[in-house]
Amino acid sequence: MSDRSRSLAWDPTTALEALAAADVALWTWTPSEDRLRLTGATRSLGLGPLAPECTGAAFAALAMPQDRALAEHLLKSRDEGEEITVRLRMRGAETCIWRGVWLEDGLRAAGVAALEVKFAGSDTDALTGLLDRRAFVQRAREALAQPGDYELVVADLDRLRRLNEALGHERADLVLAALGSRLAAAFPKGAIPARIGEDEFAVLAPDGVAKPADRLRAALEQPLRVAGFDIYPTVSIGAVKAEGGPDAAEAAELLRRAELAVEAAKTGGQRGGAADYGRALESDSLSRLAMEADLRNAFAKGEIVPFYQPIVSLETGAVAGFEALARWRHPRKGIVPPDEFLTLAQEMGLMDDLGLHMMQTSARQLAEWLHRHPTAGALFVSVNLSTGEIERDGLMQDVSRILKETGLPKGALKLEVTESDIMRDPDRAAVILKALKDAGASLALDDFGTGFSSLSYLARLPFDTLKIDRYFVRTMGSDDGSAKIVRSVVALGRDLSLEVVAEGVENAALARQLLSVGCHYGQGFGYAPALAAQEAEVYLNESLADGFAPIKSRG
Ligand code: C2E
Ligand code: CA
Ligand code: CA
Repeated sequence: MSDRSRSLAWDPTTALEALAAADVALWTWTPSEDRLRLTGATRSLGLGPLAPECTGAAFAALAMPQDRALAEHLLKSRDEGEEITVRLRMRGAETCIWRGVWLEDGLRAAGVAALEVKFAGSDTDALTGLLDRRAFVQRAREALAQPGDYELVVADLDRLRRLNEALGHERADLVLAALGSRLAAAFPKGAIPARIGEDEFAVLAPDGVAKPADRLRAALEQPLRVAGFDIYPTVSIGAVKAEGGPDAAEAAELLRRAELAVEAAKTGGQRGGAADYGRALESDSLSRLAMEADLRNAFAKGEIVPFYQPIVSLETGAVAGFEALARWRHPRKGIVPPDEFLTLAQEMGLMDDLGLHMMQTSARQLAEWLHRHPTAGALFVSVNLSTGEIERDGLMQDVSRILKETGLPKGALKLEVTESDIMRDPDRAAVILKALKDAGASLALDDFGTGFSSLSYLARLPFDTLKIDRYFVRTMGSDDGSAKIVRSVVALGRDLSLEVVAEGVENAALARQLLSVGCHYGQGFGYAPALAAQEAEVYLNESLADGFAPIKSRG
């Protein structure tokens, strides 16, 4: 009897033994004394070198370099009652979830460190220590029972798959863990943060928290460095407002709506958007408008610029010309590739503006290069025409005007047209192409092999260049069918006196193979990706200095 009561009583020794047995360590941190104390399972967690006490700096120094910032984050003083959770890896130690709470207004924190699996399976996400989806819904339901205004915000991390591919799962997990602890740190007590899916975070914010969606974005979109990589996370955000009290909406339903709003933010434009439920699902969401304004402004501010990818003689390696490819120099997101904004631009009816802008800018650029490098001779720049653009009124006049304005030689401005654009109305296309040619442009048939051009049309249309789609080029080394297609397209091109450009030349072996079947030119990462104007000029300069003159004959 006395034994039993003894074991049930609060006995510090027994409690410590229990902690040790459960692989849990207890910690306290007193910033004013620069002292971190550790007891409990310090040995089995590998925290022995820090126990029984150490300085904050010693603690941070034992963290793996990628986690050092997190370790410092854990020790940062906070207001009384604020909680903190981080997942830390220390040298020679287990990966632990560290959780604590601040006592006496930033004077002291206390908490536990435990193997991350200890938290799994219960109601927390093992990676971040945040609530998991089920627990989030549960806690949100409880909170919403209290009267007041709430906002439920969901953030979906963009491009997680790419992150996984680029960094590997383990490092991508570190990114998620770091984002999780930033999220937890960004909201005051009373808000309920959670990780509700592989790449989804959520917060239920009560009344007092201003602009929770902005706060969430700000927390998650700060750059971070993991294993030597700089990561710039972007998120798509969906939000829904709710009124708490006896008639409050069901938490799971609110979550569903917020997730629908995330979807709307993503499909409403590009990644990185935000939407409110209600507005988003009615036709015009605020964020969509904001994004459109963003893109419209991008034009006005000159953020849409051509990058230039060299097109190179497979035989000599000399630069024959450049393809101008649109890039958005986004002030926050960096260089945005065209597949992330062309669809929106098209929906907004901006493609004609884009086409004209690209044509004008790259023609001027080429004129400048030719002026500075007279030996570059027959250099050309190739500009893509978007779907339907060849039918645009005024295209011919624009081309003539640009050629006159820049004084470019005949053929130096090349227009790339796709098969499908021609095949919609081949007779009409033939007339337009002839007019463009007469105006002084040269013409390339883009992505050849992907459409269904009838070869008899091809022979009748005034093309100068045939571009073999990169799909066939990429697979020609491994796929006999592709190799045959490339071989016969090259032969066809030569028969029709067309210059043949192979796209997607990613390595020297492909370049050799293409050369051996008689292909003239190559374009691809094996030579260079699309380069900013200045870098492209450097590339050109090197090609000229190598003693090569771009070998080119124009029909
Ligand atoms: P495209 O006309 O087929 O352009 C070639 C694309 O292949 C470019 O992608 C280029 O960066 C990429 N590429 C080049 N070399 C390699 C390689 O070795 N391997 C691989 N895998 N890819 C390579 P980008 O710049 O992302 O452009 C994508 C598409 O966007 C273009 O395909 C074009 O259809 C369109 N686009 C780009 N700029 C413009 C523009 O100014 N106007 C219009 N209308 N469309 C544009
Ligand atoms: Ca092209
Ligand atoms: Ca192409």
